[in-house]
Amino acid sequence: MKLLKPIWVTGKRRVSTWSPLATAFNTRPTSRSRPIFDSLRERTGLFNKPELTSFEGFHLLKEQAITATDRLIDEATSNPTRPMVDIFDELSDTLCKVADLAEFVRIAHPQPHFASAAEEACISVSGVVEKLNTHKGLYEALRDSVKRGTCGDQHLAELFLFDFEQSGIQLPDGPRQRVVALNDLILQTGQQFMAGAAKPRRVPREAIPQNVRQFFSSEGEHVMVSGVYAECGEAAAREAAYRLYLAPDQRQEQLLSATLQARHQLADLCGFRCYADRAIKASTMETSANVQQFLDILSDNLHDRANIDFEAMAAMKRKETPYQKSLMCWDTPYFTHKAKTQLLNVASSDFNPYFSLGACMEGLNMLCQELYGITLQSEQMLPGESWSPDVYKLAVVSERDGLLGHIYCDLYERPGKPHQDCHFTIRGGKLLPDGSYQNPIVVVMLSLSGGHRSGPALLGAGAVDNLFHELGHALHSMLARAPHQHVAGTRCATDLAELPSVLMEHFAACPDVVRRFARHFQTGAPMPEDMLQRLCASKHLFGASEMQLQVFYSALDQQYHGREAARGGDTTDVLRQVQKRYYGLPYVHNTAWQHRFSHLIGYGAKYYSYLISRALAWAVWRRHFAAEPLSRSAGEALRQGLLRHGGSIPPQILLRDYLETEITPHTLAMALTEELDYHRDQLDTVFKLANK
Ligand SMILES: [Zn+2]
Repeated sequence: MKLLKPIWVTGKRRVSTWSPLATAFNTRPTSRSRPIFDSLRERTGLFNKPELTSFEGFHLLKEQAITATDRLIDEATSNPTRPMVDIFDELSDTLCKVADLAEFVRIAHPQPHFASAAEEACISVSGVVEKLNTHKGLYEALRDSVKRGTCGDQHLAELFLFDFEQSGIQLPDGPRQRVVALNDLILQTGQQFMAGAAKPRRVPREAIPQNVRQFFSSEGEHVMVSGVYAECGEAAAREAAYRLYLAPDQRQEQLLSATLQARHQLADLCGFRCYADRAIKASTMETSANVQQFLDILSDNLHDRANIDFEAMAAMKRKETPYQKSLMCWDTPYFTHKAKTQLLNVASSDFNPYFSLGACMEGLNMLCQELYGITLQSEQMLPGESWSPDVYKLAVVSERDGLLGHIYCDLYERPGKPHQDCHFTIRGGKLLPDGSYQNPIVVVMLSLSGGHRSGPALLGAGAVDNLFHELGHALHSMLARAPHQHVAGTRCATDLAELPSVLMEHFAACPDVVRRFARHFQTGAPMPEDMLQRLCASKHLFGASEMQLQVFYSALDQQYHGREAARGGDTTDVLRQVQKRYYGLPYVHNTAWQHRFSHLIGYGAKYYSYLISRALAWAVWRRHFAAEPLSRSAGEALRQGLLRHGGSIPPQILLRDYLETEITPHTLAMALTEELDYHRDQLDTVFKLANK
């Protein structure tokens, strides 16, 4: 372990070379670092909401929302004078404002009474939403207004109708009750499957080969296997963990089958060919047939490219363990990691001092200024406004349009906080009747360590990517100016919602951008050029085999939710066939990896959407940014052509107009192939330079 110099030892002169924003983020705020006059200032509530000075405010907020909901239902069902979607959007805004806020506080607030009051509000509001979804009068009012042409925005009206029809409201009583029952069943079996997917496996000690037992933690005569030990250096231990952790589990099989069958019946009742069609309908790809075509073209393109990766890994394996010839599924994460370390040439932790949290935030601010003419300004939090003392607040200010919204940054780990990087919408943007705009409020959550006395939080390369990714979501929210909150910012199709954030990862991997902000937190020295080039290239190592794995997962998810699901049968048989068709390494006998794949429940036929987002992000990057990453005109085009619209335009049309090309399974598969080849060339250059 290296001892870091405490930051105050470096003296004022050095520190002052950082911007106020960087300085703010290089110091972790504590309750003691608040100004002395804090106690004299007026206390506000959470998120500056006067109702939330105490946890009891959640009850009040919920009651207000219910009263407003009743009033809006009355208005919608008695010949309204304004467009129906305006009423619906107000309804949605009223409920989301409480539900989204409460959902966040439930997850993030360290004080139990706040968290449980928020949870109660969540439950009440989702009860209200449930009632609305099955409110026939409300549904008919909307449907009739669409027929009469008085609904207002047609696309938004269709989205609201589709939401209703997900619960089968358009069906006669019998089938509708069946839909409700199936939804309940799916919720239950799905949750049980997710819980089971992460459970460690307890096996007798003898089940583990003697020479690798020391890698596993034992409990008396048993051994706990808590994962696949993907990055363990001992091949036999990786193999043992893989075989034991992924051994078939009968209970998981039952739960998965039950969920898939119920989903298929549900889709069938609602008039879809299969569940995948129902899930994909509102997305960029529109049908499961398009998704399948996309995966097939990409899979063909990947075959040879992934094999090159596998051969390189197999050569590494032969060098390390000459008695083991072939590369297996449990080897790839380990050798990918090893190759990355070799390419970087120095320990990956040697990069961290160049990525202090302050330096990264300065980088993000630089990007915002160059691309959009907006700045991120650190704002003093009012007493009572935050749920934890170490949260930062950013005002996002445009040089042309003034304040655009607020981003709260909850970036440090703390006991009880979920260890997951997330973006939460607390309040969506919306055009108000008086012509002003309701500015969005979001939270970005990470789990960084450090930031104490020993110095600022220093980020690893992965954490930098994650910070940029989540800020990509936040900026999507901030730059959104859709008139309706139901489709503002990230409230759009999943594949479109991930585009701006994946695009931000391209900025974080671009030498011209990283060079502008990666500076040593103590000396202020820029990152040496050789380190910078290696770091940016290393992110793409073995990209083809990694992408092939994602295609395989996506194809499996499609197969399980496709027409064949009606037939039922053993999910491992399906896995074996799909793996043979889509993945370059063989299925391992007597394993059932799908029993651990909880995304089958969460994404439900939409796991592929990450690949689509990646393809779109690459298309955007290549066309508009690769040649000149900090171009204002490209930034402005992205803002006006894409970000400001959120989900207010069907994604197909929005993307076609912005990218000036038809969005087809073929163009998207080719974009990803091109991305791989581009980075392959970049890697070759770095390798050549390294071997000189
Ligand atoms: Zn994301």
